[in-house]
Amino acid sequence: MRSTVDILGVNVDFVTMNQALENIKVFLSEDKIHVIYTPNSEIMMDAQKYPALKDLLNRADMLTADGAGVVLASKILKTALPEKVSGFDLVKNSFSINFEKKPTYFFFGSKIGVAETAKSNVEKEFPGIVVKGCRDGFFSDAEEPEIINQINSSGADILLVALGAPKQEKWISANRNNLKVKICIGVGGTLDVLAGFQTLAPDFFRRHGLEWFYRLTKEPGRLIRMLKLPKFIIRVIIRRIFK
Ligand code: UDP
Repeated sequence: MRSTVDILGVNVDFVTMNQALENIKVFLSEDKIHVIYTPNSEIMMDAQKYPALKDLLNRADMLTADGAGVVLASKILKTALPEKVSGFDLVKNSFSINFEKKPTYFFFGSKIGVAETAKSNVEKEFPGIVVKGCRDGFFSDAEEPEIINQINSSGADILLVALGAPKQEKWISANRNNLKVKICIGVGGTLDVLAGFQTLAPDFFRRHGLEWFYRLTKEPGRLIRMLKLPKFIIRVIIRRIFK
């Protein structure tokens, strides 16, 4: 039975990292597709503006809190989530779960060559993990059937979709019925990090919920997008006061 926390109308799963990994095991044992998104404050804010995006998020099989902002929001609403379960950490930990038979992956998204480099790094670092196919994330509508065909014929169990938010969530939602994988996860910049083209924030920033600040120093162009974070928290405070 799923336990979720309502954050401005988006139902985020009340899970620790370990429970999220257990859910992945269960999803892999079932013969149907499961969708996982890991919303951060930006997409939570977008979901306030676009009801279709909110609906789409709520149709996922698991939603985990990608950023410190979402966890803070849950605390303000007095329904504290146990911890942050970011897309990157969830994917990385999934490579080491104890399975009888390790799941196989397909890496879809990011610039040309990124998925292939991520595949070679992951297969080296995690013996037993097999990435059955790769495809960059820059494509036309006309190429979509061929991409879906490539994913399905690879026979991969887990599809990572790295097209950035909310493009990846929309793509997954529009195509979930055509995909033959067991799990599909929207993972943002995860492939860039696995490929070594982007660095994670140092531990200090990660532990103190300051990843957004580190990222801003690296990519100042994200400032406008990031202003959604304080707006999101203010909105949550208002909801708390008038609940
Ligand atoms: N990307 C892509 N296709 C696009 C737009 C973006 O494959 O049409 C990739 C981009 O190269 C990057 C990822 O999507 O690897 C977005 O990463 P980011 O960390 O910005 O994700 P977000 O924070 O938007 O979820």
